[in-house]
Amino acid sequence: MKKKGHKYIFVMGGVMSGVGKGVASASIGKVLQANGYKVNLVKVDPYLNVDAGTMNPTEHGETFVLRSGLETDQDMGNYERFLGRDLPEENYVTSGMVYSKVIERERNLEYDGKCVEAIPHVRDEIVDRFEKAAAINGSQISVIEIGGTVGDFQNAMFIEAARVMKSRNPDDILFIMVTYLPIPSKVGEMKTKPTQNAIRQLNSYGVQPDFVIGRSEEELDERRKDKIAEQCNIRPDHVISAPDIDSIYDVPLNFERDGLSKLLLKALKLKKKPTKHTMKEWAAFAKKVHNPKKEVHIAVIGKYFSTGDFVLSDAYISVIEAIKFSAYNLGAKPILTWISSGDFETGKKKLSELKKFDGIIIPGGFGTTGIEGKIKVIKYIRENKIPYFGLCYGMQLAVVEYARNVLGLKGATTREMDKDAEHLVIDIMEDQKEKIKNRNYGGTMRLGVYPAQLKKGTIARKAYGKDLVEERHRHRYEVNPEYIGQLETAGLVFSGASPNKKLMEIAELSKSVHPFFLGTQFHPELQARPLLPHPLFTEFVKVCLEH
Ligand code: GLN
Repeated sequence: MKKKGHKYIFVMGGVMSGVGKGVASASIGKVLQANGYKVNLVKVDPYLNVDAGTMNPTEHGETFVLRSGLETDQDMGNYERFLGRDLPEENYVTSGMVYSKVIERERNLEYDGKCVEAIPHVRDEIVDRFEKAAAINGSQISVIEIGGTVGDFQNAMFIEAARVMKSRNPDDILFIMVTYLPIPSKVGEMKTKPTQNAIRQLNSYGVQPDFVIGRSEEELDERRKDKIAEQCNIRPDHVISAPDIDSIYDVPLNFERDGLSKLLLKALKLKKKPTKHTMKEWAAFAKKVHNPKKEVHIAVIGKYFSTGDFVLSDAYISVIEAIKFSAYNLGAKPILTWISSGDFETGKKKLSELKKFDGIIIPGGFGTTGIEGKIKVIKYIRENKIPYFGLCYGMQLAVVEYARNVLGLKGATTREMDKDAEHLVIDIMEDQKEKIKNRNYGGTMRLGVYPAQLKKGTIARKAYGKDLVEERHRHRYEVNPEYIGQLETAGLVFSGASPNKKLMEIAELSKSVHPFFLGTQFHPELQARPLLPHPLFTEFVKVCLEH
């Protein structure tokens, strides 16, 4: 699988986690793309899960679904948004994938009776995966982000794989360390020591970083840069300052201020090539984020809100970004309010409080918590003509609400809530039943891209401007075909369906009865990009602004 001359940039973290290695990697990809190179962004997650699908979002953040259906880490979402293109599943690697493959091979006697060891067998499986990711889709540079922090036990094998690749092809490989420089309030000065120690720790793996990206509250001054350079054998101009900023979309622009792409190309012995992907459009979008002319107030009603703002924005990152892209492109700053649907069940919140918002989103979700609260909310905003956008579970529950309160089917619900209910307007697909029975949960939902045929004259058809679309999915349940006729007669419009008309993909109400009431079985947020906002989000925000 090896591809000759392919360049690899490994991004590793030092000092502590959570300092924005993902955004730094995505931004490195972006600035290299603007120099005419096709870049592959690869994420390594050291955990033993085979994919990110079985993890709780409050713990791990959002599960980002690739076009192929692989359930991955949220960083993959940032990568796609920054590069503006879909990434293949080879670009996501976990320890679980690596080990299960090695063990499978061992069980199949593929190692010819040898003792199977971490080195070389596990390490070489990792190298193979990196080289495979490099070989596909015609990219010339791979930026590979190794999750975790240098010094962790879990990611050492990945760093070892990177080291051995460098020893084999020294000219083709660069190491970048993203570190953190604290400014202790009582000391009042930015300290480089933790960074020096982190680099020494990386040295002990046999790896010398070529570049250091210094994250801090403030800009790194020349003195700090020189100190890191001198203490750690790094060229001073290879120490890049990455101060805290409000918008992640400024990061590539900040990197370019330090001339990062030029330096990277020089270090990799590559030349700038002509391209249409310059930073111009990107800079124009980044500017819009700072100059909104108005505000749009949107409430997001879900259940994962009990653990604080930080967790929350991680669990819904693609939804948040999708709203931002559409809103900023319409000249508006989105102000999001997070409300737990359970609060409408306990009476902690009154439905009338929803009136103050320009629009409401109910995003995807699983399980039974807070569902009746969501249905109450949907009834209220349908009757009070507040713009509504339901994503996946948010669409299913809109169908439930309509069946109950307009069609008059008492107790209508989804099988996820009550499998014995009389009217299961949202039901499980046949092929899913067996999987659940066998507790076969990992990677078995309807996942990835499926086509939807749009109905003429609907909000959806108008927003997309075409008849056939492809959107990404992640769910087990579907609108029950037995109820489609009745629901349609009662006024619900299924404006998008699978080409064989079996699966309902979009439900909406006609504009003559409601300004915007639309739900999608798929997750449109997964394909929204800064330079290509999603048409349904844009239509929703437009109506919110009029509202
Ligand atoms: N829980 C629902 C299902 O599995 C919706 C999933 C989602 O919102 N992603 O069908």
